[in-house]
Amino acid sequence: MSDRGDGDWPVLVKLQLIPNALGNIAVLEASKQLGFQFRRAFFLTDLPNGGRRMPHAHKALRQCAVCLRGAVTIDVEQNGERRSVRLDDYGTGMILEAGRWHEFYDFSGDALVAVLAADEYDESDYLRDYADFRAWETRRAPDRVPYVTLERQLAALENPVEAAITSVIRSGVYIGGAPVARFEAAFAAYCQSAHAVGVGNGLLALSLALRAAGIGPGDEVILPTNSAIATALAVSDVGATPVPVDVEQDTGLIDVAAASARVTARTRALIPVHLYGHPADMDPLRALATEKGLFLLEDSCQAHGARYRGSRTGSIGDAAAFSFYPTKNLGTIGDGGALVTSSAAMAATVLKLANYGTRARYDHELIGTNSRLGPLEAAILGEKLGRLDAWTDRRRAHVARYASGLQDIAGLQLPVARSWADPVWHIFPILVRDERRDALEAHLQAAGIGTNIHYPIPIHLQHCYRDMGWRAGEHPVAEQRARELLSLPLDPMHTPDEIDFVIQAVRGFFKGR
Ligand SMILES: *Cc1c(COP(=O)(O)O)cnc(C)c1O
Repeated sequence: MSDRGDGDWPVLVKLQLIPNALGNIAVLEASKQLGFQFRRAFFLTDLPNGGRRMPHAHKALRQCAVCLRGAVTIDVEQNGERRSVRLDDYGTGMILEAGRWHEFYDFSGDALVAVLAADEYDESDYLRDYADFRAWETRRAPDRVPYVTLERQLAALENPVEAAITSVIRSGVYIGGAPVARFEAAFAAYCQSAHAVGVGNGLLALSLALRAAGIGPGDEVILPTNSAIATALAVSDVGATPVPVDVEQDTGLIDVAAASARVTARTRALIPVHLYGHPADMDPLRALATEKGLFLLEDSCQAHGARYRGSRTGSIGDAAAFSFYPTKNLGTIGDGGALVTSSAAMAATVLKLANYGTRARYDHELIGTNSRLGPLEAAILGEKLGRLDAWTDRRRAHVARYASGLQDIAGLQLPVARSWADPVWHIFPILVRDERRDALEAHLQAAGIGTNIHYPIPIHLQHCYRDMGWRAGEHPVAEQRARELLSLPLDPMHTPDEIDFVIQAVRGFFKGR
């Protein structure tokens, strides 16, 4: 609501007047007309004729003023431009956006002004000094960039998300129910697949799929050593043996030749990971899986909406696991996950396994577990799913901005996209040459820029797997990436200015040498 364009501010809203023989009812609907829910109402009254009130601005608070009786003039200023509105009829409300200097003056002696405020009183939200306000307003250039900005996504969806949460609370149904079924159907369609089963998290989506495929003790499962630990933990969870393999130098994705070389008589499954939102090379992996009779499970926890040769991830393997952990491209406000598959039998088995192995109520056919997607999480995901492609476009724009801003730096290797891939860029990983990664990380941290490393320790060198007999040096490409990789801030809600701020800080580091 705050971005209506500069041409038409301040925004005036019309109250609906419902006249009848006994008088008028004047109605203002918060979610439809104000663009915010109000949490506080107050009134200005008993003002001296011609009086004025202290001008000020709010950093975040949005308000709407309605002059119920009499008249008042309100001045609003942004970027040095001032506009004034005379409110003299109760049929019109005036939106007071955050970040605008405003002043109420020239009250008529009988004026009664109602103000609807989006939040409770908070002194720290006030800017009472005009010079402070101008300094605050012109401080447009960012002075720090958080690694992710998840709260901005929900702020952009404030009303629909709050409405969805409220409707779950009012429904009285707190496990399963319509929001989960609706989201599962929408997400399956989004993935161009037949079934999506909501589960508790991405790790359980992987391990329940392996269990449903009958994989367990004595079986080997091949996966890239450069991945989130959950990829391997899912295999351990079902009692099978993870077999980590090395990755491609430029993409960090599973090396198909390395995978093929590790297939034994005990191999039962392959888990390619669509790491950083870039799909793995699925055609040769499918050929290998078909030739050796392996279950092909996509770890798509970082790749919601990515495409491989035009097909969405989640629609390519025998099954695919997604995570809705908050930082993922599609994330909720807690844990969540989904198993996506075109196989009705696989979907039905995972659904049972995730619900105590239940066939019908209290009839337990399988030794299942409890791993469900909750209706609150599903309701939020449903609202966010409608924005996902737009947010992916913003990720892509940020990546293009990074690429053009950093491409000429000799000490860096930027991520690449294969010709057949439409990546969704969960992460923007750069490789820093000459053992300068840690120094660049410290330099960016000192500049107020959040970074991350995906991943500092490959799976085959993790402590929890120390008894597997895996050695340092076994997967040299992944080990080198672990020393060189740095993930720069990349969130759809970052602004181009914030990305430029990061680019300048990276350039400053290399210029300084
Ligand atoms: C996040 C992630 C997982 C695990 O998902 P959770 O929901 O956190 O359990 C698995 N694999 C990859 C590649 C991930 O990024």
